[in-house]
Amino acid sequence: MFKKVLIANRGEIAVRIIRACREMGIRTVAVYSEIDKEALHTQLADEAVCIGPAMPKDSYLNMANILSACVLSGAEAIHPGFGFLSENPKFAKMCRECNIKFIGPDYETIEYMGNKAKAREIMKLSDVPVVPGYEGEIRDEKHALEIAENIGYPIMIKAAAGGGGKGIRIAYNEEEFLMGYKTAKAEAKACFGDDTLYIEKFIQKPKHIEFQILADEYGNIVHLGERECSMQRKNQKVLEEAPSNVLNEELRIKMGEIAKRAALAVDYKNAGTIEFLFDKDNNFYFMEMNTRIQVEHPITEMITGIDLVKEQLRIASGEKLRFTQDDIKIKGHAIECRVNAEDPEHDFRPCPGVIEELCVPGGMGVRIDSAIFAGYKIPHCYDSMIAKVISFGNTREEAIVKMNRALSEFAVGGVKTNIDFDLSILQTKEFLEGDYDTTFLSEMMVKKDA
Ligand code: ADP
Ligand code: ADP
Ligand code: MG
Repeated sequence: MFKKVLIANRGEIAVRIIRACREMGIRTVAVYSEIDKEALHTQLADEAVCIGPAMPKDSYLNMANILSACVLSGAEAIHPGFGFLSENPKFAKMCRECNIKFIGPDYETIEYMGNKAKAREIMKLSDVPVVPGYEGEIRDEKHALEIAENIGYPIMIKAAAGGGGKGIRIAYNEEEFLMGYKTAKAEAKACFGDDTLYIEKFIQKPKHIEFQILADEYGNIVHLGERECSMQRKNQKVLEEAPSNVLNEELRIKMGEIAKRAALAVDYKNAGTIEFLFDKDNNFYFMEMNTRIQVEHPITEMITGIDLVKEQLRIASGEKLRFTQDDIKIKGHAIECRVNAEDPEHDFRPCPGVIEELCVPGGMGVRIDSAIFAGYKIPHCYDSMIAKVISFGNTREEAIVKMNRALSEFAVGGVKTNIDFDLSILQTKEFLEGDYDTTFLSEMMVKKDA
C-alpha cells in the first residue's frame, strides 16, 4: 500500500479522500489555491502545498505545479477526485512519465472514454447497446442537418468532450437544430476547448440509470448495482437514490453484465461508472462512461458496505479485488441530496459568501459529506456544491423519512441554498412513488411558476 498520497482536488471530495487515507494509515498531501488557504482539505491533510492563484487554470488545473508538489513531497500516488484533472488523459500520462501512480484507469482508457463519440463506436463493436445516432465526423452544418434528418427528430446535439451537463442541446425541428448546433459548438469550445459534436436520437422521458463498477489490474471486475439519477435540473443531477425503484433483479443482472462488458472493452481498471438511458419500454442504451469516482458514490457505499475510495487505493497499489460478484450484496436503500450554495428564487444562480451560522444534521442513517464550517467563506470561482446529505434506511420509505428529517435540521446562515428545493422534491407524488424520469424536475418547476 502507498505510504503517501497527494489529493489533486478541493472541497468535499478532497476531504472524503483524506478521510479514507487516514483510516488506512496513509499520509496525505493536500494541494490548495491561494483562496483555499483556510479550506478544510488544506487543514485536514498531513501536509499542504500551495499550487497557485484561485482560478482553476492557475491551480487545480495546473499540471506542472501539482506534479512538482507531488515530487517534492515524496507522494507516490495522486488521487484526482472528480472534475478538474480527473478525466484528463494528458495529466494521467504525465503522472506515469513522472513515475507517480494515477489513481484511476490508464490514460489510454480515459482518452477513449473522454471522447463520447469514440466511446459510442467502441461500445457498438462490443455489442453494448448505444442510443441510435451518428458518431462519425461531421463535415459542416449541411452534413449535420442531413445526419439529424436521417436519425429523425427529436435529436440531441452533444459535445464529444462534454461533461457536467454542458454542451448539450435538444432539437425538435430543422430550425431548432441549426440554432442548437451553433450554440452547442460555441459552448463546447468555451468549456472544453474542443468543439467536436455528435448527434443522438433524443430519448423521450428517459431515466438515467448508472452502474458502478470496480476492476482490478488483473482482469477481475464486479458491478455494485445501480444508481437512479433521473432527478436532474439542466442535465445536472440533484438527487440520487440506490437501488432504482424500477429495476427488477433480472434487469439488474442483465444491465450489470453489460456494464462490465463495456468496461472490459476498454481494459478498464479502478472505479468507474457506466451511464445508461432507460426508456419506457425497459430498453436501455449506453450513454457515457465516467472514468473516475462519482459525486453520488456514497449511496452505493451505503447499500453495499464497500468503501469505494479505499477500494480505489487498494486497486491502484496493485492489490487484487477482495470479492467476487457473488459476494456483493445489496441491502437497504440510500438517497443523496446535493446541497448547493445557490438561489432557487433567481434561477439557481450561484450564491457564494460567508457561512455565518451552521447546524449540520446527524443521527442514525444520516451521513454528511462536506467541507464547510461556520465562518467559512465559499469562494466564487468553484462549483457551488457545498455538501451532500446521504440517508440510509432498511427500506426506501425509511430512507425518505430520514432524508426529510435531516434536511429540515440542516441550517446554513449567510448564504442561500437549495435545501428547501430538495425538500420540495421529496414531497412530490412522483418521487414518493419512485417513478420519475429526467424531465420530471423541469416540469415540476414549470407547474410551480404557472
Ligand atoms: P457525476 O456524473 O459524478 O454526477 P457531474 O457531471 O455532476 O458528475 O460532475 C462532477 C463534477 O465535476 C462537478 O463538480 C462538475 O462541475 C465537474 N465536471 C464535470 N465534468 C467536467 C469537465 N469536463 N471539466 C471540469 N469539470 C467537470
Ligand atoms: P454529461 O457528460 O454532461 O454528464 P451525458 O451524456 O451524461 O453528459 O448527459 C447528461 C444528461 O443529459 C443525461 O443524464 C440525460 O438526462 C440527458 N441526455 C443525454 N443524452 C440524452 C439523449 N440521447 N436523450 C435524452 N436525454 C439525454
Ligand atoms: Mg453524464
